[in-house]
Amino acid sequence: MKILVMNAGSSSLKYQLIDMATEEVVAIGLCERVGSEDSFHKYGLDDNERKIEVHLKDHHDAVQAAIDALIDPADGAIKSLDEIDAVGHRVVHGGEYFSSSVLIDQDVLDKVKECSKLAPLHNPAGIMGIEACADIMGDKPQIAVFDTAFHQTMPARSYMYPLPYELYETERIRRYGFHGTSHRYVAERAAAMLDKPIDELKIITCHLGNGCSITAVDKGQSVDTSMGFTPLEGLMMGTRCGNIDPAIVTYLIGELNMTPAEANDLMNKKSGLLGVSGLSNDLRDVRAAAEAGNERAILAYELYSYAVKRYIGSYVFSMGGIDAIVITAGVGENCDRMRRMILEGLDDLGIVLDAELNAKRGGERTISAANSKVKILIIPTNEELMIAKDVVELIG
Ligand code: ADP
Repeated sequence: MKILVMNAGSSSLKYQLIDMATEEVVAIGLCERVGSEDSFHKYGLDDNERKIEVHLKDHHDAVQAAIDALIDPADGAIKSLDEIDAVGHRVVHGGEYFSSSVLIDQDVLDKVKECSKLAPLHNPAGIMGIEACADIMGDKPQIAVFDTAFHQTMPARSYMYPLPYELYETERIRRYGFHGTSHRYVAERAAAMLDKPIDELKIITCHLGNGCSITAVDKGQSVDTSMGFTPLEGLMMGTRCGNIDPAIVTYLIGELNMTPAEANDLMNKKSGLLGVSGLSNDLRDVRAAAEAGNERAILAYELYSYAVKRYIGSYVFSMGGIDAIVITAGVGENCDRMRRMILEGLDDLGIVLDAELNAKRGGERTISAANSKVKILIIPTNEELMIAKDVVELIG
């Protein structure tokens, strides 16, 4: 069975064709700068990767380019669209409508459209991807997998904000949480690595990439997460500030005469690692500077790691214990220095990092010391595979 996984961003489309018999990726591609003159399509596995500059005016063009490459008679991964059994779409926001993945029909599409208000940059792109697939592939089953769905199990005390209640009733202003597919995937893998049923485990999953979020997973369910009404809340990220005093926003607008859009841009695109270091949103650059003694780069490391530490502490308390901490995504999988800063000094709580294991590279692995009560695991995330698995489950 072959599943096509589509991930439409505001100006990009990533796709993978996965053979579920082996869980192997048989084709992969990326359309970037969709909607602008300099758009391009990069596709092919490893050594066969190629980049074609092609004008993609919208996501329909991008889906068409992806399909054309997949069935290219010269070197496509498949001979015809008949070889694709179904399509799984990553959809950012499912609001309160969706607590799991669903087969897309008109009603689902209408609800995803309704949620566009909550994710104005992302949901419209996802909808265009779905509509383009329907247009090009006819009635092939399409499934929506939501970033927010996993977090729908949070209790009200985790998802409500202490604002006037009417804002929840009328505007649905509440915490939704994001990266749900990644948190769910790594939590399930953690249970497999620990060889225990997930419903006997308390796990904290840390997704530390360009975007960062952390989730408390109790008995397999998300009970709290750091991202909120939007992905801006919570941890410090590549370019996002995460938690700050909300009165700073009114100060920026009232005293510095910023427009709301400028303040939004500052918090989403100019803050985080980039804003503090003044160098880059890429931790590799910040690390090089920190190692050379750059004080702002060192401060960026401290703020970033301390934010994660704070959340881990609060989730251990809110769950009343912890069996495993899972670290994933670009920063989490690759930066031993950041992991060390996050996890050092917790020995008395039974969280003991093994310095040697932490310094090693690799795939799924344990980096806690043998005497650590809490297991510390690195698990490379694989949202595409999780999406494909949901598709298989839904289409039987
Ligand atoms: P996204 O959230 O966009 O999916 P990723 O999970 O791919 O991002 O993470 C990308 C980030 O991971 C980069 O911006 C960089 O900060 C970080 N990263 C990747 N490799 C390394 C490394 N070797 N050392 C430190 N940081 C790294």
